[in-house]
Amino acid sequence: MSDTPAASTSQDFIREMIATDVADQRNDGWVITRFPPEPNGYLHLGHAKSICLNFGLSEENGPRARCHLRFDDTNPTKEEIEYVDSIMEDVKWLGFDWGDHLFYASDYFEKLYGFAVSLIKKGLAYVDDQTHEQMRATRGTLTSPGTASPYRDRSVEENLDLFARMRAGEFKEGERVLRAKIDMASPNMNMRDPAIYRILHAHHHRTGDAWCIYPMYDYAHPLSDALESITHSLCTLEFEHHRPLYEWLIANVDGLPGQPYQREFARLNLTYTLMSKRKLLKLVKEGLVNGWDDPRMPTISGIRRRGYTPEAIRSFCKIIGLTKYPSLTELGLLEHSVREDLNKHAQRVYAVLRPIKVVLTNYPEGQVEHVELVNNPENEADGKRLVPLSRELYIDADDFMETPSAGFHRLVPGGEVRLKYAFCIICQEVIKDADGNITELRCTYDDATRHGAKPVGRPKVKGTIHWVSAAHALDVEVRLYDKLFTVEQPDEQAGEEGDFTQFLNQESLQIISAKIEPSVATAKPGSHFQFERVGYFFTDPKDSQLGKPVFNRTVQLKDGFVKK
Ligand code: ATP
Ligand code: MG
Repeated sequence: MSDTPAASTSQDFIREMIATDVADQRNDGWVITRFPPEPNGYLHLGHAKSICLNFGLSEENGPRARCHLRFDDTNPTKEEIEYVDSIMEDVKWLGFDWGDHLFYASDYFEKLYGFAVSLIKKGLAYVDDQTHEQMRATRGTLTSPGTASPYRDRSVEENLDLFARMRAGEFKEGERVLRAKIDMASPNMNMRDPAIYRILHAHHHRTGDAWCIYPMYDYAHPLSDALESITHSLCTLEFEHHRPLYEWLIANVDGLPGQPYQREFARLNLTYTLMSKRKLLKLVKEGLVNGWDDPRMPTISGIRRRGYTPEAIRSFCKIIGLTKYPSLTELGLLEHSVREDLNKHAQRVYAVLRPIKVVLTNYPEGQVEHVELVNNPENEADGKRLVPLSRELYIDADDFMETPSAGFHRLVPGGEVRLKYAFCIICQEVIKDADGNITELRCTYDDATRHGAKPVGRPKVKGTIHWVSAAHALDVEVRLYDKLFTVEQPDEQAGEEGDFTQFLNQESLQIISAKIEPSVATAKPGSHFQFERVGYFFTDPKDSQLGKPVFNRTVQLKDGFVKK
């Protein structure tokens, strides 16, 4: 699953199409794309796919290419400046740069209004006084045509007057809309005189109270593309049925600087999570997660806080590639990309998540030795560190079994195991409290087994485990994150009307106190670690303090889908 050319940016259907356009000198060989989020929520991994595509194309196509960041801020009731700021932060974090090309659809409101006036003058738009319900009722169905509005044949003068009065604030919300005059019998419902302007007496986060009519997304989007001379407008499959309207507007509005065209690719769907800002907002609003940046969330801010890296996300987007057909991607594939990247640069440390005390009865009391450990076997330059070892240690409860199951090769009563990079120990006695819980293992160590030497006169040691020195270990908070949902497709399983929150994984966050080697005391917030034999962890950027790190589990070392 490495980054092979076949799986990476080579030739997907979008890149092939663009290569042909460049070869044909369409738009003088320019490739101008855009990432057009609506600032009504935080970005998620699906957006990362679109960002990697649009900004990626700009990087790949040399000096005659660029990618715009454009906020499609045409719905003031749902949009906020907080979302605008978070989106910019997320795009930058992924490693992309829009340079001077930051735009807002709201910057075009005056021009978009002018285009609407010109459509009215051409007899291609009219003001409709029907209610929303009436319009819906007369739209027809997939098998029967719609019925023309009684207002469809208003004169140009009357339409111009009414549209101007809509803008002037004379009417209430829902009282009138401006519709494109296309074809009420079109087999494509989007072409049955779609609304292009509506009345909204709402304050806009950028234009304030300057407007009380707002363009519809389907109208603003193609025309904003054209105003920015976008060459390729790439969006997800659900917009395929909107393409004829996109093309109609580009063809019928005069004086546009660009002639963009739209193509669609399949959105990213990932198992055990969902990708809809609306639904993610519900989780946040109802307090079912701890905010947009909760490390369980599929938001960019969530995965960043969890410890995923931009390199891992970009590599994942290359691996999944682009298709024209809906598909479902395994969360395991994303985790694989995260592990591959972290393996290269995460500092290794010893940490014991579920400690059991081990006393080495033949190790001198008060003695401390320092074992030299490699910081990262993947990168020699990361050097080594000294880790204290003494008579009392902690090992992980998972590494001991009183009644071992078949194939268990770690510590058992009377058995022998190697303490990684130290020596072998033999479990002589299991101490329990009054309730029968194990409180301590009394072991002896064999000094002759240092540096990998085999025990003499005893069976071969099959298991190697990690450890921390009890007196030196730090107690740290570790947040073990798991899948957000218990089913692969919470969205699908809940259905349109159903409640997807019923599938939330109640065990998606477990907070424990772990014992960890003292070297992490100096770890800065936002540092990556591999707890050897356990997984990758990240010092929480918000809640960690110097000397008091809080660890988020980024991903388990092995595929978390294999039941432990
Ligand atoms: P949501 O459904 O989560 O609200 P959206 O499509 O409404 O997403 P936008 O802000 O309009 O959100 O999205 C900006 C861009 O990101 C669009 O071009 C959209 O096609 C793309 N995008 C959104 N979701 C995905 C996804 N799951 N996979 C790939 N691209 C996506
Ligand atoms: Mg949307």
